[in-house]
Amino acid sequence: MIVKLETLLDRSEKNMGSGIHPVVKESALEMVKRAYQEGIFVQISAGYRSMEEQAKLYGQGRLGYIYDGKNYSDLSKPRVTNAMPGQSYHNYGLAIDYFIVSDDGKNAIWTVDAKWRRVAAIGKSLGFAWGGDWSSFKDYPHLDMTGGLTYSQLKAGTKPRLISKVNGTTPPAKQVESVVKDTPAKDSGNQTIKSIQRTLNGRYSTKIDVDGYYGPNTKKALIKGFQTELNKQYGAKIKVDGIWGPQTKAASPNVREGAEGNITYILQAALYLEGHDPHGMDGIFGSGTEIAVKSFQRANGLSADGIAGENTFAKLFG
Ligand SMILES: [Zn+2]
Repeated sequence: MIVKLETLLDRSEKNMGSGIHPVVKESALEMVKRAYQEGIFVQISAGYRSMEEQAKLYGQGRLGYIYDGKNYSDLSKPRVTNAMPGQSYHNYGLAIDYFIVSDDGKNAIWTVDAKWRRVAAIGKSLGFAWGGDWSSFKDYPHLDMTGGLTYSQLKAGTKPRLISKVNGTTPPAKQVESVVKDTPAKDSGNQTIKSIQRTLNGRYSTKIDVDGYYGPNTKKALIKGFQTELNKQYGAKIKVDGIWGPQTKAASPNVREGAEGNITYILQAALYLEGHDPHGMDGIFGSGTEIAVKSFQRANGLSADGIAGENTFAKLFG
């Protein structure tokens, strides 16, 4: 069962709280919708946080922390934040946090992978700034719209003028790089994904952008590589079109521990791109690959036997 969009929107709305700025709320829900249309299931975990709630968080792991005459010290819990009340955009209803959920909507997934970054890119196209672009310390779940105001301006009661961008569009994944480049982040594009894209171009003469982002073109190139190998190694006679269909599925071999070669490489790349890191793209099916296959199978409702067969490939490529 695939989680319903309405479920994600309901949970997100509840988690943002009533103090959330209307434009932030509208944009956050739009982000959840657009991600959903791309098959990425995302939920907002937090939004508005009152000064008292912030004091409670700040008091965790701090001795004798007093705010507004009240002791918020809680040494039974670890420190979670360096932001005192008023020093977080959440306190003004201008920030949200998000996470990815499993396809059935039951589990939270905190892996910062291609999907996670794609959500950030969608958020940015809607006017959010992303905590993953911060240089001092990175806060990957965090998105905010500050209207250019500082904490002290906000504290003094200045209201931000936020402009909703929900009527605009988000550039498709392959164009994401230009959006990301608006902020001079040095980690623009994922290095492993770049290496996969370079390998596919070199091995299969695909002509995809080496941008470090996983989008439809990279997926298509990966399937082309898979089809080429099936023809070459197994004598299959399938069209190398980069489109997953019944013939490609039927020709899929069982790839298991001990396997070596280009098909194993494609499997490793596909697992990585779907957020299940095999810890090595060496074309050798070892324990790292097996763990990643099992984790992918579990996340997709398949029996987790660690052998990639037609059903696993169908979930990876379909
Ligand atoms: Zn946050």
